[in-house]
Amino acid sequence: MTRSRFQAAAVLLTAVAVMSIVSGVLAFTSDYYAENPAPAFHSTTLQESAPVQTAAAVFPNNLSFRLEEVPSIATYKVAFAGKPGYKASHEGMDFVHNKPAVAHVPVIAAARGTVAYVRTGCPQSAMFGKNASLREAGAGWGNHVVLYHGNGIYTRYAHLAPGSIRAKVGDKMVAGDVIGEMGNSGRSETRHLHFELGYKASYFVASKPSQSFDLVLNPEKFFLELSSRGRLHRP
Ligand SMILES: [Zn+2]
Repeated sequence: MTRSRFQAAAVLLTAVAVMSIVSGVLAFTSDYYAENPAPAFHSTTLQESAPVQTAAAVFPNNLSFRLEEVPSIATYKVAFAGKPGYKASHEGMDFVHNKPAVAHVPVIAAARGTVAYVRTGCPQSAMFGKNASLREAGAGWGNHVVLYHGNGIYTRYAHLAPGSIRAKVGDKMVAGDVIGEMGNSGRSETRHLHFELGYKASYFVASKPSQSFDLVLNPEKFFLELSSRGRLHRP
């Protein structure tokens, strides 16, 4: 008996998934945000708060995950800070770009994923120096985008420039796709990207104010190997 084309395709897909897991790169497992229609973004000038996120050293169930691209260029970086099991004192890592001569700094997806949440409507008083406009808008994250990578794993891209966000909820992205531009919205002291890697056991609600992850992890530990020049080295 010959297998149908459908069965052959199913066998091939299973083989690819198994190979992905064996090679340590998780298969993209969930299309929840692409399959459930939701508002493309949540726009408001509301200043809200969201619980400070708890630091973790590893993902639950020993999930393996790799960030494929550095999400932006920077003139300097500020490290993640947090002790596993406790509230993080810096819930992500910062990519600061303080050179006005570079007018636009793109922010890109760090890994393949689907847009889970987009917060817009947060103003900024200036691109450089301390933002004085609605600092707690977006719960301090300002304009921000959250990408879902499957298995409860997310990345967050915060403080984006007003009007710069190209991503909308449900969009599928690959590493390197442009999300928006680095800005100074929310609780920000100058133009920078605050980049978080997180885990959340429940889904984001597109129409609601800013939402926290259950856990945040140090992104620097999850990038593919970096070369001495700080650029991604592909093995
Ligand atoms: Zn930060």
